[in-house]
Amino acid sequence: MIFKDKVTIITGASQGIGETIAREFAAEGATVVLVDIQKEKLDAVAAAIAAAGGRAVVQAADVSKFDQAAAVAETVLREFGKIDHLINNAGITRDNLLMRMKEEEWDAVIAVNLKGIFNFSKAVVRSMLSARAGRIVNLSSVAGAMGNAGQTNYSASKAGVLGFTKSLAREVGSRGITVNAVAPGFISTPMTANLPDGVKQSFLAIIPLQRFGETVDVAKAVRFLCSDDAAYITGQVIHVNGGLYM
Ligand code: NAP
Repeated sequence: MIFKDKVTIITGASQGIGETIAREFAAEGATVVLVDIQKEKLDAVAAAIAAAGGRAVVQAADVSKFDQAAAVAETVLREFGKIDHLINNAGITRDNLLMRMKEEEWDAVIAVNLKGIFNFSKAVVRSMLSARAGRIVNLSSVAGAMGNAGQTNYSASKAGVLGFTKSLAREVGSRGITVNAVAPGFISTPMTANLPDGVKQSFLAIIPLQRFGETVDVAKAVRFLCSDDAAYITGQVIHVNGGLYM
């Protein structure tokens, strides 16, 4: 078990990619701290992890709220004494063409996808600096790398994640902390389930591996970046997109 005795915070852990990351890390021995807004959904994920022999604790919080992120980190440090990994996964979409995009749609996406990463990274980084160890993995998106019509807000937030990742990697590298990003392509999750069939088919036509990704495809990349095998990798982006963008 490669994450035995490690403590991992995963945001947006109640479904989709975050839930799968939580299950993967718990299966590798990590104590996983599940963060999301809806406590009931988190309780169900924690129960499933416990039933599989893993260790999960639930922390209901809104990543866009600075104080809530700080409170989660404080609680984890009080209870477990350290934070080994932070997986900034929570994200939302509010798609619209710019012509029709409302200010609230822009603000909501930036608040969760970008400020959320600031909030949680800031909440954990001091303890990682003291420990002279730590791994931060941020979920970006293919949309942040290549753009996507109807997603100016989302693409801007996910491109911002890449700049944040590289800058923080430069700030904390000397203390043994790595900061990397994973940029998924089209992954089958609740986030993408409701897209119109036509949109799904047009993506499928331009994915060289000719299938949508599964959450485990993304979770395996995150697992690698937190493993000892990735000790000399920082400030990088792993694209998990079936070749959609290369
Ligand atoms: P998802 O199924 O929608 O799950 C995202 C989770 O984040 C949900 O449980 C959601 O809770 C939670 N969340 C939303 N706002 C939050 C907040 N303010 N505070 C705490 N938790 C919050 O999404 P996913 O597809 O697994 O995506 C995970 C990450 O990968 C996201 O950052 C996404 O942008 C990125 N990504 C996904 C794809 C894809 O194809 N699926 C592609 C590229 C990048 P609620 O359900 O309560 O809202």
